[in-house]
Amino acid sequence: MAPEDGTGNADAGALPGSIYDTAERTLLREQVQRFVAREIEPRADAWERQGSVPREVLRRMGELGWLGLMTPEAFGGADVDAVTNYVYAEALSQSTHGGFVVTVLVHTDMASPHLVHAGTDEQKRRWLPGVVRGEVLTAVAVTEADAGSDVARIRTSAKRDGDSFVLDGSKMFITNGVNADLFFVAARTAPLEAGARGISMFCVERGTPGFRVGQVLDKSGWRSSDTAELVFDGCRIPASQMLGAENQGFFALMKNFQRERLALAAMAIGNAQSALGLALAHVKGRSAFGGVLWDRQAIRQQLASLHARTEAARSFALHCAWLSAQGRECVREMSELKALCGELANDVAYACQQFHGGMGYIRDTAIERLWRDARILAIGGGATEVMLEEAAKRL
Ligand SMILES: Cc1cc2nc3c(=O)[nH]c(=O)nc-3n(C[C@H](O)[C@H](O)[C@H](O)COP(=O)(O)OP(=O)(O)OC[C@H]3O[C@@H](n4cnc5c(N)ncnc54)[C@H](O)[C@@H]3O)c2cc1C
Repeated sequence: MAPEDGTGNADAGALPGSIYDTAERTLLREQVQRFVAREIEPRADAWERQGSVPREVLRRMGELGWLGLMTPEAFGGADVDAVTNYVYAEALSQSTHGGFVVTVLVHTDMASPHLVHAGTDEQKRRWLPGVVRGEVLTAVAVTEADAGSDVARIRTSAKRDGDSFVLDGSKMFITNGVNADLFFVAARTAPLEAGARGISMFCVERGTPGFRVGQVLDKSGWRSSDTAELVFDGCRIPASQMLGAENQGFFALMKNFQRERLALAAMAIGNAQSALGLALAHVKGRSAFGGVLWDRQAIRQQLASLHARTEAARSFALHCAWLSAQGRECVREMSELKALCGELANDVAYACQQFHGGMGYIRDTAIERLWRDARILAIGGGATEVMLEEAAKRL
């Protein structure tokens, strides 16, 4: 089970005999794993230091057809189903550089799907081809300093003025916030008392007067992902840039939550697979007490247990992807999956770092980065507690 591909992933190319495996998915997984091993892992330490992923990497991924896998073919996408997309996201997430992974998956699975689902034909024709090619990087801006888990409490306003809307307010923790070209912004089009029924979505381009990047946020992990505060100060956009129907924005967000949660679960599973691969290779080679660490039953059994939990989570993730591909109701399953995987990635990363000893605490070793990058997976895109509430409501 030694890592062979530089990602630390011991199970690269696994799923033998899985009912979810097809020739197309196997090929895609292998292509993505090769890309990660050759083009990401050797270069991404520099991106961690600079705090962003170079645009040429995203353009290259666009050329490979990976930035619009679920986008309709008419707009340059591949129109694959949620299972194939999950296979892609998991393989990408086996990179030990979570900042790179989230830059891509926010663009493909959390931001641009809003345009695919709710965009008018004109909006789609204007932006989607560039999105798929990696020329138009996207972000989704919902969270505010005073409203994160409780999305219905956002205060950024969008007031109608003739043929325009004028946006005022600010957004917090926005991934791709510094470098995105197109932002899907949730803003209030009815008073706060209207709660979830008073939110609409808008397309806002970088460079629009009255819109600027505020603070660039310095994070513990995901360091190659740029995260920012966004400020809207009398930002006027044409009314034609409203995305979807007025006051239906919250429901549009909810519609994409399942895809977002699945992508975050893929990130967590990829992170755990890589951490396990690195730990297995380490303990099998590390001499101690007249043998290697692997000879210690306590270590072996803990790694076997974490491996079993990761495999179980992965099977559940594939099942959730399949439910989604069938168009079935799966809010409870996806919420459970996100809660489960966010915590699992942290358990796995913690133990695998422990087995690396002092080296596991040295900055920018792969295992140290995986441990740092795992932390946000239990917080962002719906904290574990919030996901469990969503699940509990449906039990
Ligand atoms: C690196 C990073 C990237 C992000 N990217 C984006 C992005 O691209 N776009 C975007 O819109 N947002 C983004 N976010 C925001 C992220 O989704 C929120 O941080 C997250 O939803 C939690 O919201 P909050 O930070 O306001 O925490 P709060 O809502 O204040 O919650 C704090 C904590 O309280 C607990 N809690 C909350 N509600 C409950 C409950 N009902 N029951 C029990 N416990 C509860 C949880 O432990 C939670 O972590 C990002 C955040 C980070 C850190």
